[in-house]
Amino acid sequence: MSRVLVIGIDGATFDLITPWAEAGDLPNLARMMAEGIHSPLESTIPPVTAPAWSTFATGVNLGKHGVFDFIRPIGGQFDLVNATSIRAPTLWQILSQAGRKVGTMNVPVTYPPQPVNGFAIGGMLSPVNGAFTYPADLLDRYEGKLKPYRIAPHVQYKPGNEAEFTADLLDLVERRGEYALQLLADYPYDFLMFHFQATDNMQHAFWKFVDSSHPRYDPQEAARFGPALKQLYQRVDDYIGRMSDRLDDDATVIVMSDHGFGSLHYVVNVNLLLMDQGLLKLKKGAWTQLKAGLFRAGLTPASFWHLIERTGLQNYVWQVSKSTRNKVVGKFLSFDDVDWSQTVAYSIGHVGQVYINLKGREPEGVVEPGEQYEAVKQRVIDALHQLRHPETGQPLMDRVIPGDQIVHGPHAYRGPDLHLVMDGYQTIAFPLFATDRHIVTRQIRGDSGCHRLHGVFIAQGPEIQRGKTVENPHIMDLAPTILHLMGLPVLDDMDGRVLTEALTSDRPIKRQANGAGEAKPHGELSREEEAEVEDRLRALGYLG
Ligand SMILES: [Zn+2]
Repeated sequence: MSRVLVIGIDGATFDLITPWAEAGDLPNLARMMAEGIHSPLESTIPPVTAPAWSTFATGVNLGKHGVFDFIRPIGGQFDLVNATSIRAPTLWQILSQAGRKVGTMNVPVTYPPQPVNGFAIGGMLSPVNGAFTYPADLLDRYEGKLKPYRIAPHVQYKPGNEAEFTADLLDLVERRGEYALQLLADYPYDFLMFHFQATDNMQHAFWKFVDSSHPRYDPQEAARFGPALKQLYQRVDDYIGRMSDRLDDDATVIVMSDHGFGSLHYVVNVNLLLMDQGLLKLKKGAWTQLKAGLFRAGLTPASFWHLIERTGLQNYVWQVSKSTRNKVVGKFLSFDDVDWSQTVAYSIGHVGQVYINLKGREPEGVVEPGEQYEAVKQRVIDALHQLRHPETGQPLMDRVIPGDQIVHGPHAYRGPDLHLVMDGYQTIAFPLFATDRHIVTRQIRGDSGCHRLHGVFIAQGPEIQRGKTVENPHIMDLAPTILHLMGLPVLDDMDGRVLTEALTSDRPIKRQANGAGEAKPHGELSREEEAEVEDRLRALGYLG
């Protein structure tokens, strides 16, 4: 039985941590790795922050918690996800119900903060002026004592502002760290989780400074700005050390990330490929209607951009320079120009997610479930496999993964029908209609880094093995493992497993039915309404 402290480092990768730890630059992480266990941690498909942390929090696959991306697309429309989108009980809810004291800070997809037996501070999707803490007055007592808490970065990276961008993120880490230490001292806890997001921001922007194989690598720039990323990790490492120092001996510390990181080289305009193949069709006279359509209907690249800017999300999802954005709005197409009655497939999402325009699910669905659905899916897969890498001429697709092979559960039908893995994740998709007229375009500005499937898992504590290897831990294994470490039963419908090979004790694993059920968040479909849709889809043959 243990108390547990989880420290999230968004996008952290052993590609950076291991050499820096070995060189003595990250002494606290190095100590944890030496005294405990560490292993790459498999993320969700897609390896995106919102579904990955939702999976961590619930221990279930995406089809059970219902969060597949930052956005929830339906036809050409979409919502942003938030804490009420997670349709399975979270660790903090389960622990609160069991009477344990919990606290979370800055964990993605925890806004609006849900009532817990302890405290909660919303994460990256919190509006800056929203009521982002539970209880609402949580931070009042620190007024004048600590610098004000900050939700989001102030500086967006542009070539030339590296120093300013770095200083802003270092400050963000410092404020989180100071609040973490204070909350750790002030609140009794059984489970605490503190999350650092800034690593993800900086890796998106600065990957070209730390990877000498990057197409935009410049040795002089790398020498000047590359050390900033190590400095950021060092600041996090320092807080990990200071937090660990204040823990009692019975505490287990877990350091983890939601996905890894690597180089970004190309962007694919998947919708243009679908257009070329006749799978997606435009309205007749689309060009003449374009300007009116862009501003009339909801989904234009500009309005979408505006929406995500309001929540501070632009730093996290993808970055398009202002000039590209203007070009998109001024010249190119959007989903408003799509003739849905003639369209069988479309793509929304920045990793590479394709949706079939399925009857019963999509607002203007035309594809019948069953045979027709499978046939359309196969046509899309065949088209995708024709794409070639612009330099090597090799197939660009590593894998095209049907959604129903990797998710299951009551919300599975809402997920992408196909997930693309392109060139070892060095190639991603343009999230909306298209960036320009080319299907595959080099990423010449904006982000130089993007996500990878494997993040990090490091654990150390009284019940944690020393120096042992853990077999392919998955991010959904963490919730059951934490419950077991805390002497609580694992919920029956959790898809993850207790990582027993990481533990010294062989206490039997207790199990319990999920008595909490699903949340019924405000303003969304009730369980009954969703069950009705699910039944309809099942009747149509889509849900087996
Ligand atoms: Zn992330």
